[in-house]
Amino acid sequence: MKTLKDLNIENKKVLLRCDFNVPLKDGVIQDDTRIVASLKTIKYIMEKNAKLIIFSHLGRVKEEKDIEENNLLPVAKRLSELLGKEVIFSEATKGKELEEKIDSMNEGDVLLVQNTRYEDLDGKKESGNDPELGAYWASLGDCFVNDAFGTLHRAHASNVGIASHMEGKSCFGFLVEEELTALQVLDEPERPFMVVLGGAKVADKIGLIDNLATKADKILVGGGMSYTFLKAKGLNIGKSLLDEENIEFCKEVLSKYGDKIVLPVDNAVTNEYTDTEEYRVKDIEELTEEEMGLDIGPKSVELFNNTLKEAKTVIWNGPLGVYEFEKYRKGTEEVLKGLVDNNIKTILGGGDVVAAASSCNLKDKVYHACTGGGATLEYLEGKVLPGIDCIK
Ligand code: AMP
Repeated sequence: MKTLKDLNIENKKVLLRCDFNVPLKDGVIQDDTRIVASLKTIKYIMEKNAKLIIFSHLGRVKEEKDIEENNLLPVAKRLSELLGKEVIFSEATKGKELEEKIDSMNEGDVLLVQNTRYEDLDGKKESGNDPELGAYWASLGDCFVNDAFGTLHRAHASNVGIASHMEGKSCFGFLVEEELTALQVLDEPERPFMVVLGGAKVADKIGLIDNLATKADKILVGGGMSYTFLKAKGLNIGKSLLDEENIEFCKEVLSKYGDKIVLPVDNAVTNEYTDTEEYRVKDIEELTEEEMGLDIGPKSVELFNNTLKEAKTVIWNGPLGVYEFEKYRKGTEEVLKGLVDNNIKTILGGGDVVAAASSCNLKDKVYHACTGGGATLEYLEGKVLPGIDCIK
């Protein structure tokens, strides 16, 4: 992996792709975690007396009305505050204004370019990786650093486009380095290697199951998707979530990898999808036609924890219950706690399980929590990520 320390950036014009896709409401940043997370890379580049030119997307820009809502100016202001230094902002994504601002930069200066997705209004030039746009942006600097993990699975002009014109002069930033280093643990995991799978739909996890089932020593399935597996085994699942179209797929997985698969034996049930009913637990076999399971129950927690305590490496994707309802977060929380208490190298694979871990203050206690749900999922599916491929 080529990282910042492998590239000579001293006194250079450095193009940096960040992920400043922060939640904004009426122009006010609701959560600046992504900006703060980028500071290590930004400060390192500034300390090398480089001129730093930053690109990022923000939201989706499909029509004129999306322009104002997705203006990056508040990010420039927040970044200025965090750095204690003015961040030059270019309203233009290309042309004279941008070029003049770059020409007047001094060593150590930072410039943020307006939302790269403004270019999508003109025939999806950013998201479609328009070759001219990538070449133009690349022409503005001497080298390229990609620190936007969340877009590595997409070929956009501001990542793959620029990198394709910077052969031998591009690398990953510290954030991407950290994420990829953690994920690479899974290439040759210390065994037993176990996978915890949850979340809503089997359909979204087919690629993941196909890729990980052969490698894993055990696969523990919970959450909404476990009911399609239970149904495939011939059990009654009442009104629980069912992915009808994938019952056959689950049957195949069970017949191929049955000895590796661990399914819930009990669950917290309700009659309606709500958190207002009294918390009650039933064995899976006892579910009636009127009931649905919203979380794994205490016997399943024990079964999962007893299995997982033998693991040396664990990857976990998807919560084991409807964690958005505090009551039905319990299963996910107890299993997470078990992993943390037993000091097992655990990687949380993006999205909802990371949010669930955050809500019970366990996110910072695991070995690594991946950001960027889409990129992590595609990595775990064994796909080649264009944003990685063009720099490797
Ligand atoms: P995913 O994006 O596939 O990881 O799915 C995450 C979603 O799965 C969350 O919004 C959870 O509320 C949902 N989920 C987890 N367990 C269940 C369940 N037993 N029934 C319905 N939804 C669930």
